[in-house]
Amino acid sequence: MPMPIKTVAGKFQQKWGRYQYYWDTYENISVPMNMHCEIHGDFNLTPIEHYRRNPCPECQIVMWAKEALEKGWVTMSELVQKYNTTENDIIDTFARY
Ligand SMILES: [Zn+2]
Repeated sequence: MPMPIKTVAGKFQQKWGRYQYYWDTYENISVPMNMHCEIHGDFNLTPIEHYRRNPCPECQIVMWAKEALEKGWVTMSELVQKYNTTENDIIDTFARY
């Protein structure tokens, strides 16, 4: 018996609150389903990995960079260089997370 959509949707909302889901592609928590990020578009993950750990893959890169900066693992100038962007762009992007 698969976990009911309502239960899974509640868990996703609680964990992320920022994505949409194609519930017609949901089978159970361990089969990949289609999901949507308003910034980066569609992506595909199993519900269980999405709930435990993984956001949209593009968002994940931003989240890692933000955390790395906050924890002092990288400097702003290293991020500017690595992503070939500007400090303002990075600040704007991080503000959305
Ligand atoms: Zn995204």
